[in-house]
Amino acid sequence: MSIFDNDIQEVLFSEEQLKNRVQEIARQITADYQGKEIMLISVLRGSFVFMADLCRAIDLPCTLDFMAVSSYGKGTKSSGQVQITKDLSEDITDRHIIVVEDILDSGNTLSYLLKILENRHPASIRLCTLLDKPERRVKPVQVHYSGFTIPDAFVVGYGLDYAEKYRNLPYIGILKPRVYGG
Ligand code: 5GP
Ligand code: MG
Ligand code: MG
Repeated sequence: MSIFDNDIQEVLFSEEQLKNRVQEIARQITADYQGKEIMLISVLRGSFVFMADLCRAIDLPCTLDFMAVSSYGKGTKSSGQVQITKDLSEDITDRHIIVVEDILDSGNTLSYLLKILENRHPASIRLCTLLDKPERRVKPVQVHYSGFTIPDAFVVGYGLDYAEKYRNLPYIGILKPRVYGG
């Protein structure tokens, strides 16, 4: 129970379900990159919880970096206009990169971001997203690791926000449309 439960229409993934799926993805990544060192890039801020759980379940030498982009403001739809608001601190040349995202929606953010990162000549680059909303895709994006496919609804929790709130919900739920005036 939490003070936010009244704003949630439906719980999609419980803490337990999230934990299990994150462990499975981490095992897959560990198997795929045996003998290599990887670098996880978290796209702030939505992926910070996923990143924290995922990196601790990966059994490989691993470095971490963070980057932030803006495309949403306080709304619930991406604008297509993407801006880097915080760039990486590390050089990714010749590194094995995994971009860690909270959710792939229209694809606007990631198609832009992946292009920028590819231009920096990493040894390899893959995308790991916790959630995927394929119904809303506008730009094609190749996904290597995906936690759950979800329907077209606005979700919050486990790092994902609405107007910067709900990130600290331990589960993922569909926000009641009345909360954002929908
Ligand atoms: P895209 O550019 O693919 O449309 O949107 C990607 C970003 O929009 C995600 O990284 C996430 O920050 C935000 N986003 C997309 N759908 C949702 C959603 O259902 N809930 C929340 N909280 N954020 C979303
Ligand atoms: Mg995101
Ligand atoms: Mg957001």
